[in-house]
Amino acid sequence: VCPVGAITELSEIDKVWAALEDDEKHVLVQTAPSVQATLGEEFGMEPGTVVTGQMVAALRRLGFDQVFSTDFAADLTILEEGNEFLKKLNGEGELPHITSCCPGWVKGAEHNFPDLLKHLSSAKSPMQMFSALSKTYYPEQTGVDPATIYTVAVMPCTAKKFEKDREEINGSDFKDTDAVLTTREFARMIKEMGINFNSLPEEDFDELMGESTGAGTIFGTTGGVTEAAVRTVKEKLTGEPLERLNLGFRGINQAEVRIGDRLVKVGIANGFANAQKLLERVRAGECELDFIEIMACPHGCVGGGGQPRPATNEKKDKRAQGLANIDDSSKIRKSHENPQILKLYEEFLGEPLGGESHHLLHTKYKARPKN
Ligand code: SF4
Repeated sequence: VCPVGAITELSEIDKVWAALEDDEKHVLVQTAPSVQATLGEEFGMEPGTVVTGQMVAALRRLGFDQVFSTDFAADLTILEEGNEFLKKLNGEGELPHITSCCPGWVKGAEHNFPDLLKHLSSAKSPMQMFSALSKTYYPEQTGVDPATIYTVAVMPCTAKKFEKDREEINGSDFKDTDAVLTTREFARMIKEMGINFNSLPEEDFDELMGESTGAGTIFGTTGGVTEAAVRTVKEKLTGEPLERLNLGFRGINQAEVRIGDRLVKVGIANGFANAQKLLERVRAGECELDFIEIMACPHGCVGGGGQPRPATNEKKDKRAQGLANIDDSSKIRKSHENPQILKLYEEFLGEPLGGESHHLLHTKYKARPKN
């Protein structure tokens, strides 16, 4: 069951077509990490087939002015959230640290675990980080009038449609995310346009906010945020690389990592029932974990409600493996080594958790009536 109650896909296809046809608008698009390993199924390919290059080509043929990657912003999330976690490990803030990049889980927490909200990272999701930058950093670097920019996000779920309309989410002076398309809606647009997806050439994302690391890509599946965060935190603290955590793709899993003289305990839960089990342990003071990743959908975003249907566990395993394969073959696999993220901090944000980052990239949560 969709945790935000947005079971029906409220289509924004017409809004996006209208923006693409409006000569006054400069239309940017970002694609979530999981989409590159699921979109191919809509065109008869095997689950887990990686179609990143064709996906970029299709977006250009639909008429988007710039085609960017949410994976870039996932790397940025790691820099912000990783530094938050480091502070908590040093005694500034309460452990366990709980991730906040899944809007389905955040809304579930506001309704059902308001007492745990103080543990949640204040970092916005990668989608919202990207969108805030699309109306601030992007126009500053390119000279495009921010009032003309229209930002579209291709996402795995309907919860993202709710997230973009949260009243406290905007960081720029505009609406940060203008429209959200699910993977299925995106596929429908490709078909409506008569594009032969399977014969498209592979193209690259645009510069500035299109480069990502393997760590950013695995955000699209359960365990990915944890693996990416610990990769950066361990290397920042000790200079030593992380061996794989191997948290698996299903249910609740835990791992221990030695970081210097400390044994850091991390855990993941995907699917709301699993999350509930783990969080009841936190609530009861029976959980010794330092870092907890919660994803509302089974398997994480590869199992999101906006992905191709039907989706069995075996299909979701293959989608998750598709993302793991991208990570394995990436030249850069650590978020803190993404050159476009380093440029972003150098030329615009300053430093992680600094004033500008706090204003654009972080948010707050509130208790809502129990559901
Ligand atoms: Fe959306 Fe599900 Fe991913 Fe959460 S886990 S962001 S609800 S697809």
